[in-house]
Amino acid sequence: MKIGCPKEIKNHEYRVGLIPASVRVYVSSGHEVFIQKGAGLGSGITDEEYLAAGAKILETAEEVWAQSDMIVKVKEPLSQEYPLMREGQLVYTYFHFASDEELTKACMEKKIVALAYETVQEADGSLPLLKPMSEVAGRMAPLMGSFYLGRAHGGRGLLVSGVPGVAPINVLVLGGGVVGRNAAKMAAGLGAKVTILDVKANVLEYLDDTMPSNVFPVYSDPVTLEEGLKEADMVIGAVLIPGAKAPKLVRKEHLKMMKPGAVLVDVAIDQGGCFETSHATTHSDPIYVVDGIVHYCVANMPGAYARTSTFALNNATIYYGKQLANKGYVQACKDNPALKKGLNMVMGKVTCEPVAEAFNLPY
Ligand code: NAD
Repeated sequence: MKIGCPKEIKNHEYRVGLIPASVRVYVSSGHEVFIQKGAGLGSGITDEEYLAAGAKILETAEEVWAQSDMIVKVKEPLSQEYPLMREGQLVYTYFHFASDEELTKACMEKKIVALAYETVQEADGSLPLLKPMSEVAGRMAPLMGSFYLGRAHGGRGLLVSGVPGVAPINVLVLGGGVVGRNAAKMAAGLGAKVTILDVKANVLEYLDDTMPSNVFPVYSDPVTLEEGLKEADMVIGAVLIPGAKAPKLVRKEHLKMMKPGAVLVDVAIDQGGCFETSHATTHSDPIYVVDGIVHYCVANMPGAYARTSTFALNNATIYYGKQLANKGYVQACKDNPALKKGLNMVMGKVTCEPVAEAFNLPY
């Protein structure tokens, strides 16, 4: 199979779909790998490293898309990339279709085969290709929130840890999955008092067993949510219903009961966000203020720590990518139900129920 990796073009996106070690895996299985010139530079990987691993370097994105049966990327195709997609081409990347109707329609029209990282799901319910980025975004969230709590950014002017004689801040984390527990661990490490809400008893039990003593797992309902919001200096949104739009747990009217200058970090923004007042922002313009509450809603947070993220992502994607390349997507999805769950679209037809539901499309 011919496998291509174009350079990412999203605002401040420095990750890349393939690392040299993954190239070696594909090449040693008999595949040809094309990397766009300079694609790895944002993650500190040179063309020479790719060449040494057995890849061919192509000058432009057009050439990579045109010559490849399978494209391995990080972020969803952007409008400049729509014309490059080809009928029957397998695109292995994050799509987050449910929050992007234009992308969904474009991929349907182009009749690509969309294998979405975010819905590959193992039998135990885990999402192995979302996990590494959720770990990065989760650990980043309290760091970003801490920075924007600074007065100059509209924040409350609070130092997360406090100092001797001044109390630390209260952090509220919504959702105790991968993002939530990594965020809680980091915030706790910085010295904050952390409350983490989830609806699943087993998740709450796990958090109770594993989290430091300054993290308090609490059942999520409208009352605990309101109590948490009133207390919070920083709120981290980390809820997920796989494949679907995030539930809007925090409504606009909730902002009035919060402390002025509190910071909301909506990590779930890539699925539409779990705060009603969230809209996606970028690394170059990451925050805005609504009713005195600072919102940080960057949709590709891990892009900022590109090298860590690129290597973490490849550690997970290569396992499934190898199956797709060696067997073709039809056989690979037959043999591996986890991969089949990642199949969101096949030649114009939506094959993922939550995506079809989001836009009233036939499924
Ligand atoms: P996860 O499935 O591991 O965790 C989600 C948790 O939310 C689950 O434990 C679930 O029980 C809980 N939940 C569901 N409904 C809830 C409710 N009403 N109240 C409280 N908890 C509820 O998912 P994850 O890997 O932690 O990802 C969370 C979100 O972060 C996803 O939308 C993911 O796409 C996103 N994400 C964003 C970025 C970014 O750059 N912005 C990066 C990585 C992940």
